[in-house]
Amino acid sequence: MNLIDTVNDADARHLTKGVMISASGVSKQFDSGTIALADVDLDIARGDFVAIVGPSGCGKSTLLRMAAGLEAPTTGSVALATDSVGVIFQEPTLLPWRSVQANVELCAEIAREPRSERRARAAAAIDAVGLAGFEKQLPRTLSGGMKMRVSLARMLTKEPEVMLLDEPFGALDEMTRLDMQAELLRLYGDRGFTALFITHSMSEAVFLANRVIVMSARPGRIAADIRIDLPYPRQPEVRFDPTFTSYVATISETLRGV
Ligand code: ADP
Repeated sequence: MNLIDTVNDADARHLTKGVMISASGVSKQFDSGTIALADVDLDIARGDFVAIVGPSGCGKSTLLRMAAGLEAPTTGSVALATDSVGVIFQEPTLLPWRSVQANVELCAEIAREPRSERRARAAAAIDAVGLAGFEKQLPRTLSGGMKMRVSLARMLTKEPEVMLLDEPFGALDEMTRLDMQAELLRLYGDRGFTALFITHSMSEAVFLANRVIVMSARPGRIAADIRIDLPYPRQPEVRFDPTFTSYVATISETLRGV
C-alpha cells in the first residue's frame, strides 16, 4: 500500500515567514545515475495553489515526494512549515474489504483516535466530498471518481495544512475529471490548505492554480513561474475566458521550448 499520509521532518528553521514549502538548491541523482532534478529553488506561500507541469520524467513526482518526506534530495533541502500534510496519488489506494466509512476512518484509526471522534470526523469528510449515503458501500461498487472522492475524504479527516497531489485525476475520464477539479477547488476554498499539484494537463493547471510552474525536460529545472490572475471561486465557464486560454497558450509555448 502506498503511504497515504506522512510528516515531513525536514529542518524548517530557514523558512521565511509566510512560506509553507521551500525547496532550496535541490538536485536529485538516483543510484541508477539518472539526474532527475537540477538546481530547483521554489518557495510556496501559505494558502497558495501551485501546479507543476512538465514533460514526462522531468522530476515532478520526485519533487513532490521530497516535499512529502518520501525521498531525500542529493543536494539542497526541502522544508515544510508544518507537519500537517496530506498526500494523494493517482491510485486512490482504498482497502477493498473496507466500506467507504471504514476507509475514510483509516488515518484517524492509525492515529488511535477515539472511535466516536473518528466517526464524526469521517462523516463530516464524507459529506464534504458529496458521498453522504454511500458510507456502507465497498470500493468495488464505486466509480473511479467516487473512489477518488473517498481518497480525498480520508485526507480531509486529517485537516491537513498542506495537500500534495500527484496527478490525482490522471486516470479519470474527462467529465469526471472536470467534476473533481471543481470539487477540489471547492474544498480548497472551504479549508484554505496550501496545495502542490502535479499534472500533465495545462488546462487543469490553469483552472486550479494561482501559480503554475513549468519544468524543463530532465534534469528538471524551473523554466517558467506563471502567476494565474483569475479570481477564486472559479466557475467551469472560466475555461472559455480569453485570459484563461492565453495562460494555456503561454504554458504550451514554454513547454515546446524546454
Ligand atoms: P515525472 O513525475 O516528471 O514524470 P519522476 O519524478 O517520476 O518524473 O522521474 C524523474 C526521472 O527519475 C525519471 O527518469 C524516472 O525514471 C527517474 N526515477 C524516478 N524514481 C526513480 C528511482 N527510484 N530510481 C531511479 N530512477 C528514478
